[in-house]
Amino acid sequence: MTIAHHPGEDLLAAYAAGTVDLGQRVAIATHLAACESCRKWVRAMEQVGGALIADMAPSALTEGALARTLAQIDEPPPPARRARPVCEDAPENLPRFVKAYEFGRWRQVAPRIAMRPIRLPEPGPTRVFLLKAGAGTKLIEHAHTGFEMTCVLAGAFRREGERYGPGDFDFGDEEVNHEPHIERGDDCVSLVAMQGELRWQGLLGRLIQPFIRL
Ligand SMILES: [Zn+2]
Repeated sequence: MTIAHHPGEDLLAAYAAGTVDLGQRVAIATHLAACESCRKWVRAMEQVGGALIADMAPSALTEGALARTLAQIDEPPPPARRARPVCEDAPENLPRFVKAYEFGRWRQVAPRIAMRPIRLPEPGPTRVFLLKAGAGTKLIEHAHTGFEMTCVLAGAFRREGERYGPGDFDFGDEEVNHEPHIERGDDCVSLVAMQGELRWQGLLGRLIQPFIRL
């Protein structure tokens, strides 16, 4: 897998610092599962963060902390965690931790475009879903009111002369008006994390917008 497009360093730093919400974590971690260089970068950032914490003066134990710790020693150990079942028909390239979430059904949102919601255990402002677009499909030009993170799982799309294939990560925000098209050959399946709404441009976009709820 040759990966050409990665999350920006600001995004990776926010991930390492734990300041992104679960939906964004899922999208970034899906890229990390495929991308060794970003994994190394995040690990290095986490070590720097850990070193900073280790350098700080130790704070006094809060009142009762020792008593609580001693009480826990006498408690029976928690039952062993059972591995959560995974979604059997999720795309092969989806990391296992994502497959363990609850999936909705595939839903047609436009001709040759379908989406499947992924229900996260912590509701947050970022929605996560799988997006499948038929080979050769041209998505109409659209903009976002928030942002959109896309991690390609299968197939490929092209946008502004760049190719995005499996493992590639694309970040779109309010500034971007793109008109991606799906390569011929295979359907393109991506994991998408999105905030805000899509705004479709042009007459056709305005006509079909009421029917599209991603
Ligand atoms: Zn990467």
